[in-house]
Formats: sequence, structure tokens, C-alpha cells
Amino acid sequence: MLAEKHVLVVFPHPDDEAFSSSGTIKLFTQSGVPVTYLCGTLGQMGRNFGNPMFANRETLPEVREKELIDACKVMGIDDLRMLGLHDKTLEFEDEEFLADIIEKALHELKPSLILTFYPKHGVHPDHDAMSNAVAIAVSRLPKSDRPTIYGKAILKNSVDLIGKPDVEIDIKSVAEEKLKAIKAHKSQTSGWVELMEQQLKDSSPEIEEWLYRETFWTFEV
Ligand SMILES: [Zn+2]
Repeated sequence: MLAEKHVLVVFPHPDDEAFSSSGTIKLFTQSGVPVTYLCGTLGQMGRNFGNPMFANRETLPEVREKELIDACKVMGIDDLRMLGLHDKTLEFEDEEFLADIIEKALHELKPSLILTFYPKHGVHPDHDAMSNAVAIAVSRLPKSDRPTIYGKAILKNSVDLIGKPDVEIDIKSVAEEKLKAIKAHKSQTSGWVELMEQQLKDSSPEIEEWLYRETFWTFEV
């Protein structure tokens, strides 16, 4: 896996990358593979303002932008591009418009691998809109130029529908960084982090799933 030339990460919300693939990303950056992250929105429609409140509707984008930058530092991503799209509205964007944005990046960066959600298996309409745009953009390239796409499928019944993931990456060596990347998005993830830290302490079997491996489904366009 580490022989990639350039990895392009495409997700709509800050924190999608941390949960789904921050261990894999860290393994790439650690071995010198350039990684570019196109993050669609700033999750500005999130409703978690903390208790005590650390943000309001106006300041939330700022808070999440800073968290995203911090998470990227942990993952070793030095090319973060915030697309400035509107949270929770991506499904209403023209899909060709979204695909144009991705296509531009494909021509510029010529990635050999893309990490994104698996189309139609992202649970959230923003997730599916973004991965659909990736699929359209990649399909516009001649077959020989198309990067591999690792899709993250997170429907409850994804395995029933598309089978088991065909890519399994052992991220145990960077589990700590994964936890740190998730922690960086603290406005969204504080409950999770405590849960994971407890599971880690208890060596609970769930931790295997969350912190020691990341799985993907190769998606063909
Ligand atoms: Zn998301």
C-alpha cells in the first residue's frame, strides 16, 4: 500500500477523515507519500456547541476549521484544501459541479489512490454526494489514468449488500495518532474519545475495530 504516488482524501465534513482513515493517512505521510485532503464543508450546521458552550452558530465554522487544521497536523497532511461548500446541502448541489471540483484536483495532482466514502453507503446525504462526485470525476478519466478508489462503507447492512471489505490496513503502530486526530475534532467527538480511551484501558475487543485496523472496499467506476 505504501507504494502510492499521491493520495487524495475526499470527505464532506471535518472529522469524517479522522474516524474513517486517519490511521491509513498517517501511515502514508509517515512513509513520505504526499496526501492532499479536499474537505467539502466546515460542518457549520453541526448542533453540538458544547456544555459549557464553546461556540455558537456564528463561531462554529471557525472552531471546526481550527480543529481540522489540528487534526491534519496529527495526520501529517500538509496540503489541506477547504472547499467552502455548505454543510448539509451537498445533496442539493449540482453533481456535475461537485465532480468538476474533484476533476480539477485529479488533473493537478494525478493521485494513484483516493480515500472517500463508498458511494451510496455513506449514511449521510453529504457523504453520498461527495463520493458520487468522486465517482463521476474519475469516470471522466481514460481507464488507464484512473486512480484506485478505497471507499468506506458505513451502512449497517453494507456487508450484506456489497460483501466484506477487500482492503484491511493494520494501523496498530499509529493507533495513538488516530486517537489524537479524533480528539482534535473535540467539538464533535468528545464522547467518543472517552469511550475509546476506556476501551483501550480495558483492552476491550471493540478497540480492535476502532483503533487497530481500518477497512475499505475498492470501488470500480
Ligand atoms: Zn460526515
